[in-house]
This record gives sequence, structure tokens and C-alpha cells, in this order.
Amino acid sequence: MRTLLYHGESRLSVGESPTPHAGPGEIRVRVDSVGLCRSDLYGYSGRNNRRDEVLAAGETLVMGHEAVGVIDELGEGVGGLELGQAIAIDPIEGCGDCDRCAGGETNLCPDRRVYGCIPAAPGGFAEAMVAPAANATPLAAGLSLEWGALIEPLTVGEHGVQLAGARPGERVLVVGGGVIGLGAAFAAARRGAEVTISEPQAARRELIAGLGLTAVEPAELDALPPHFALALDCVARPETLAAAVRAVGRSGTVVLVGIFSDEVPLPVSRVVENETRIIGSFAYVHEDFDNVAAWLAETDLDLDRLIELRVGFEGIIDAFDAYASGSFDGVRTIFQPDLEVASR
Ligand SMILES: [Zn+2]
Ligand SMILES: [Zn+2]
Repeated sequence: MRTLLYHGESRLSVGESPTPHAGPGEIRVRVDSVGLCRSDLYGYSGRNNRRDEVLAAGETLVMGHEAVGVIDELGEGVGGLELGQAIAIDPIEGCGDCDRCAGGETNLCPDRRVYGCIPAAPGGFAEAMVAPAANATPLAAGLSLEWGALIEPLTVGEHGVQLAGARPGERVLVVGGGVIGLGAAFAAARRGAEVTISEPQAARRELIAGLGLTAVEPAELDALPPHFALALDCVARPETLAAAVRAVGRSGTVVLVGIFSDEVPLPVSRVVENETRIIGSFAYVHEDFDNVAAWLAETDLDLDRLIELRVGFEGIIDAFDAYASGSFDGVRTIFQPDLEVASR
């Protein structure tokens, strides 16, 4: 089968590799749609070392942890799933033995594996992919498979809101209008909160407004009183963390959803005087994943707006390069192995 191979040091190639088979407890899918995640793009461009550091000399990695496909092989002992069924794959696999896994917190399992992030667990930038059956979330009949590829990144935002517990009528600020920020905004809005998104790019703000959400420029935010009950930093830069801390009022909550690459300064006297609660949020648990999949099946929103480019094997390396050079910054690019020509 065709596969996109990452060799480390910003080198990608399309090659042939043996089609995998589903082992006991596993399923194989014919890949339909896979999102290009910022973590893949940053790992490729060298902005961080997260994709290179997992590679031993001469090893390759199949990235793509936001995969959706149709089951075409069931491993031994798999029940409750059928051939031909469309599923999204939760890429986080816990060890199944530790206290964290027992509580459903596979994201905090010290021995977790993430499909598409280590060579031993290949991801979805391929014609087929194998994953544990327990990680499969069936897609509702009629749900676009492309939309299914949005579940993973939207769920990152969902988890942050779930941890903080947004309540009806509360003012919630989301810093950053990318797909993770939108996931947080949808999650808070669904819980009845009054949501504002801070986003510097005008085109993004327009897109957000088209989804029925309120978007403001970061400078506009500075002019508002610190009246939010909850702020989620979905960007993870020093200025976005500071903006989140300054935006919440007394006994407010700040959730750090983005992944920081370094230590950052904190307006700490504000934290103390306001008794601000600061919570870290890392990835998600499988229940969050299922909840977002269920919401996608019933939402009236036009989430096609989030998918700004579709590429097949022909266009995927160009898409990585376009993001790396900054010439393209679409909310989501979706890889579809059957697609011959890139389309917007
Ligand atoms: Zn991702
Ligand atoms: Zn575990």
C-alpha cells in the first residue's frame, strides 16, 4: 500500500509498505480522511522536536493521528464492530493495567502509545491503518467522513472545558481561533456558556462569525473588564497565557490547552489576588471523543468551513511545505488517500 513516510529532519516521501493486518483485538480500516495536525506540521518544520525525537537512526514514522476510515478487517475476538462500518480512531492507547487507565484517563497513562506519533504505532497517512478495536468510535449514519477527521482536534478543546466544567450563562473566553480553540468554544457553547474567542487574524474571525460565535481582536480584549469566569488558552504562547490570566475575574479558572515548548512568565500577583485556578489539560479521554462524535452527528453548523484544503498523496508533501513556509495557514487540511488532485 502507499504510505507517507517521515524520515526525520524535515524529510517526507511517498513509498510502498506492506499492508498491515489486524491482530487480536484490532481492526484495520481503509483510510478515508485524516487531518494534518499542527503537531505534525511543527514536528516536520523543526519548530519542535516531537516527531524527530521518536526516530532511531534509519527509522521512519507514519504520521496522521486524526484518522477516519471504513473497517475492512476484524481481528480475532473483536465484537460490536462490523466490516464496512465507518469509524474515527481515538489515537491514544493506554497500557490497560495502571490506575490511570482503570479510571479511563488513558491520556495520563505513563505507558500510553499514540498512533501516528511513534514508529511502532503507524498513523493514517497511508491507504490502510490498524488500531485497537477499543479505540474505534463508530460514526453516525449519514455523517460526513471528512467531518469525522475533525473529531480528534475538536476533542482537545472539549477536554479542557470538561475539566473546568463550564456552566450555563457563564462568560467563557477562548484564546485562539484554530480548530482546538473552536473545539473549546463549541464545547462551552453547548453547555450554555456565553463564549468569546480572541483571534488575531481577520479572516479567521470572519470564519468564526460564520459559525455563529463571537470573535474579537486581542487588542479589543484588553479593553474589556476582567469579567470572564473561565478562559482557555488554546495557543500556548507567553502573551496568550497572560491574556487568559488577565481576562478572568475573581475565583476564575484558566485552562492551559495548548502545549508550551518552554517555561513562560505568569502574571502571578493576579493569580494570587484573584484566587485564579489554573488547570493543565492534556489531550482527552475516550469519553470526550465519543461526546464530540455524538455532537457532530446532530449539529446544524456548517463545519465544511473548517476544511480549507484536501490533498491526496500527490499534494500532501506540498501542503506540509506550505504550512512550514507560512504561505498557507488553513484551519484544517484533510488528507484523503484516494484523492488525485488537491481541492479547496
Ligand atoms: Zn492533533
Ligand atoms: Zn495505563
